[in-house]
Amino acid sequence: MSIALSHRYTESLPADSERSRQPRIVEGAAYSFVDPDPVSQPRLLAWSTALGDSLGIARPSEDQDAWLQVLSGNTRWSGTSPYANCYGGHQFGQWAGQLGDGRAITLGEFVDRSGSIHELQLKGAGRTPYSRGADGRAVLRSSLREYLCSEAMHALGVPTTRALSLITTGDDVVRDMFYDGNPQAEPGAIVCRVAPSFLRLGTFELPASRGDTPLLRQLVDYSIEHHEPDIDHRDPDALFAWYEAICRRTARLIAEWTRVGFVHGVMNTDNLSIHGITIDYGPYGWLEPYEPGWTPNTTDAQTSRYCFGRQPAIAQWNLSRFGGALTHLTSDTERLEQCLASYAEEYEHASQAMFASKLGLVDLQSEARQQLLTDLFDLLSMTETDYTLFFRGLGAVPAERPGEAEPQAALMPAYYDPAALQGEVGQALRDWVARYQLEAKQQPDAVRQADMQRSNPLYVARNYLAQLAIDEAEQGRTEELHRLIQVLENPYTEQPGMERYAEKRPEWARHRAGCSALSCSS
Ligand code: AMP
Ligand code: MG
Repeated sequence: MSIALSHRYTESLPADSERSRQPRIVEGAAYSFVDPDPVSQPRLLAWSTALGDSLGIARPSEDQDAWLQVLSGNTRWSGTSPYANCYGGHQFGQWAGQLGDGRAITLGEFVDRSGSIHELQLKGAGRTPYSRGADGRAVLRSSLREYLCSEAMHALGVPTTRALSLITTGDDVVRDMFYDGNPQAEPGAIVCRVAPSFLRLGTFELPASRGDTPLLRQLVDYSIEHHEPDIDHRDPDALFAWYEAICRRTARLIAEWTRVGFVHGVMNTDNLSIHGITIDYGPYGWLEPYEPGWTPNTTDAQTSRYCFGRQPAIAQWNLSRFGGALTHLTSDTERLEQCLASYAEEYEHASQAMFASKLGLVDLQSEARQQLLTDLFDLLSMTETDYTLFFRGLGAVPAERPGEAEPQAALMPAYYDPAALQGEVGQALRDWVARYQLEAKQQPDAVRQADMQRSNPLYVARNYLAQLAIDEAEQGRTEELHRLIQVLENPYTEQPGMERYAEKRPEWARHRAGCSALSCSS
């Protein structure tokens, strides 16, 4: 296996001097060297051909394939020193202290043919000094969900960590899925994820919380030097430019989540990347009936801190905690606050442009259009209305000849209870559609629909679809998983024969575990 490697991370930043897996507090270091723990019978369940091709890694073809052994943690990728990152974070609004990669191990930095550097990281690869009391492993259901969603998000055009492989380990992992005192053995799995780096907001918060300014300074300098081509790390203002860049790209990311109806579910500061990419897929979900207060995470059901509608505000709160960490490096807190203010400005700008494109309108810069958007949210809240299918159907509503009968027919598949349309909801819908037609007719229907189909996906990784693929995969069959992966590779294009992947969540899935909401157990 002849591959180009980079060692810039481990060569630039201080390592933990201890080498054992013993759970411990690690100070003065950005990471700890630790090897993945071998597994008994690795089997490749899914492989991202597109990502593999772009990295120049061929799909492992058989059990003894060298890459399969590397990606399951069984053999060391020669020339690398795997490591687990040290970071902290605010979890559910509280400072949680040191967390770190408790089950993720970075194999190394891979240099692709174009010279770009990617970290390859195994999630579920065994215990590290950051595992605390846990086993360092991951179950198939959560690994499959991470694999599926990373690749689906990429296909949607939403910035994300990627997933190269999904491998079952052949070893069982015990989890109490419902946290009800009934632990069960489940199949274990490992995902190889790929990103420019796995640096999180919490990476910087931890040394700041300890008053370790030299390490904080090193981490910041490193991040700017290696990940910010537009900022000169020697510039005295580099810190501010960097903070502002992170605020702005996080704002654009959250607008993208809103566009596709994605709810992360655990937006702790340790789960937010400095690159503005989606990271750490856990109990995520896709908004099915439009409900701003909906969270897929049952652990968050009480407070709904991480519900769909609060994601923009939570990202801002997280960025303010991160800015707080940076006060250890500058006395100009006013300037830091100005950088943070760029988050709200960028979010406003990005979300206005995003909703204009979802609605197929040139912009939202008139009072009538602003009102149309505000009233749309009220309309969607009146009765259970599928967020994805509503916007997709809206493209098919004719506007050129507004007099036509039943223009709202294309929206019917979005309604969970069509009977609800008999009364005032039906009237509100007709009224809103009539007003929409007046705004939308400024473009030919065909042009508007084509535009809207680029902003409004038809296929999203609905939890119940993922769960059906999991049910099969746990029985050793992967046809459903592969069909789903294939459908989600082209989320904006209608695929004949795949109609059932574009339907709203069926009634049976409403309360089944994993099909709507799910726990953090993974
Ligand atoms: P998460 O909620 O998945 O972002 O994880 C929060 C923290 O718990 C991180 O430090 C994880 O590495 C750690 N963690 C989660 N699951 C495990 C596990 N099975 N073994 C070790 N550490 C874990
Ligand atoms: Mg995490």
